[in-house]
Amino acid sequence: RSSAEKFEFQAEVSRLMDIIINSLYSNKDIFLRELISNASDALDKIRFLSLTDKEVLGEGDDAKLEIQIKLDKEKKFLSIRDRGIGMTKEDLIKNLGTIAKSGTSAFVEKMQTSGDLNLIGQFGVGFYSVYLVADYVEVISKHNDDKQYVWESKADGAFAISEDSWNEPLGRGTEIRLHLREEAGEYLEESKLKDLVKKYSEFINFPIYIWATKEVDVEVPADEDESSEEEKDTSSEDEETEKGEDEEEDSEKKPKTKTVKETNFEWELLNDVKAIWLRNPKEVTDEEYTKFYHSLEKDFSDEKPLAWSHFNAEGDVEFKAVLFVPPKAPHDLYESYYNANKSNLKLYVRRVFISDEFDELLPKYLNFLKGLVDSDTLPLNVSREMLQQHSSLKTIKKKLIRKALDMIRKIAEEDPDENTDKEKKDVEKAGDDEKRGQYTKFWNEFGKSIKLGIIEDAANRNRLAKLLRFESTKSDGKLTSLDQYISRMKKGQKDIFYITGTSKEQLEKSPFLEGLKKKNFEVIFFTDPVDEYLMQYLMDYEDKKFQNVSKEGLKLGKDSKDKELKESFKELTKWWKGALASENVDDVKISNRLDNTPCVVVTSKYGWSANMERIMQSQTL
Ligand code: ADP
Ligand code: MG
Repeated sequence: RSSAEKFEFQAEVSRLMDIIINSLYSNKDIFLRELISNASDALDKIRFLSLTDKEVLGEGDDAKLEIQIKLDKEKKFLSIRDRGIGMTKEDLIKNLGTIAKSGTSAFVEKMQTSGDLNLIGQFGVGFYSVYLVADYVEVISKHNDDKQYVWESKADGAFAISEDSWNEPLGRGTEIRLHLREEAGEYLEESKLKDLVKKYSEFINFPIYIWATKEVDVEVPADEDESSEEEKDTSSEDEETEKGEDEEEDSEKKPKTKTVKETNFEWELLNDVKAIWLRNPKEVTDEEYTKFYHSLEKDFSDEKPLAWSHFNAEGDVEFKAVLFVPPKAPHDLYESYYNANKSNLKLYVRRVFISDEFDELLPKYLNFLKGLVDSDTLPLNVSREMLQQHSSLKTIKKKLIRKALDMIRKIAEEDPDENTDKEKKDVEKAGDDEKRGQYTKFWNEFGKSIKLGIIEDAANRNRLAKLLRFESTKSDGKLTSLDQYISRMKKGQKDIFYITGTSKEQLEKSPFLEGLKKKNFEVIFFTDPVDEYLMQYLMDYEDKKFQNVSKEGLKLGKDSKDKELKESFKELTKWWKGALASENVDDVKISNRLDNTPCVVVTSKYGWSANMERIMQSQTL
């Protein structure tokens, strides 16, 4: 079209499109769920606006918040249409020509090498998956604030935008037309599309219709003679009397009609829009939760979430929630932890999607959880900012934390590998082998979050400490817990002993362990830099104090020779202390913490450990 304005794609988009179009990736199906998910997002947006301004919805069909799929076998195109918010000309240029999200570049890189497009939706570039199946795409869109435009591209580095003067007016929303490639003919089969919607888009909260063929029984005259046509002609002259006479005739002379099959078209509903979180948790299957998780996260790998919790909070503040522990931590979970606004729960108010950028729902350390909250208590018709201030959010947050920690505790409780031998038998009897090793998996992915929680969340410190895992001098290469440590404590042992350093191998050789090992005390190894901070906050557990064995104050019980030794080395320690007085040494003492090593430098009780000094140094350098 000569009137069309031409644009070039951002270089990164072009590169992405090249990869997609040349991809040998076999699961081309993904394009449909990406388009449906975009349609659903657009519908969420207009519904949200309509809360404060009903006018935006328009009237009649425009007000129907739905998604429609249509095929044209002859012209070989497939169209997906929504009555969502639509895009202005500016939106079209910005949204379908540039990439805004960070991390996309890394994704493009990865895709180039791995060829795996499965996660495309998570990286904010799902739209471009249309080029897996189409070589030419038109996007027709009408936003309330602008005229109707057509965006089009053959994925040749450029796209064009024209004011739309030839298509049927959309009223509002977007229609995506995919002109399918020769080899993508299967997407012109109704049954294929129906299957895909059922498989991937089951949990979309707007009705999805397909323009489907339908065999219908129609009554036609048995004999196609002239008289019946004449009857039809005359029937329009004076309907009422004619009809009456016809009926009488019908009943007299039978049969005058016969039934034949005819192919019609009609909108067929493909999904059940009843939200899963409104259902009774007892009636939702594991498979449904898994599928729901996948659609929520646009993650269509086959991995199951590690755990989930579906509950209904009642009382002053009512809400329903489904929380998931994902199977894997995202690569950037702890990147810019304190600055990034990475909230992952979706907030609904009475079934209406409000936001997925609400950071008031969960504390930062739980930002690895996924899921949604649907509140009955929050007001619907106020701005996001005002919602953010609402007093019931505090209660919601508190309950969510509690439920989240319960859910995590249960992963451990149900894991046969996590339990003491006696309990282990019981769990094994229950026969749930799927749960074996799940807590270790959880810990390896998200253990750091639990540690950050202990640092940040004083109110739940003890609950979080229960979830802590580590290796120790007696854990035999496996992970162990504080409860298990306590169960192994020696008679008369008051403190929980630990040591910090860079690796277990290094720590095992430490002279600080000599005396403890000889006396058969268990010592925890803390080898993550965050552990040093952790132990500044975790002072005690179940009335037992933590004692860093490289610090002063280690008490290993009285020895009869202590006094005698102290006396006989008095002169030496006195001389030594004097000799080191200028070297930041506070004291020189006789100790029973060593065995072979003659002497060791110990840090003062309230000072930094040597390991902490090392960490601080590496941070400031
Ligand atoms: P994402 O959905 O993760 O943002 P996409 O590549 O799927 O990434 O879509 C890019 C953007 O294009 C969307 O953020 C949205 O602004 C716009 N968009 C895509 N499809 C539609 C649609 N059907 N209606 C309105 N806007 C859309
Ligand atoms: Mg999308």
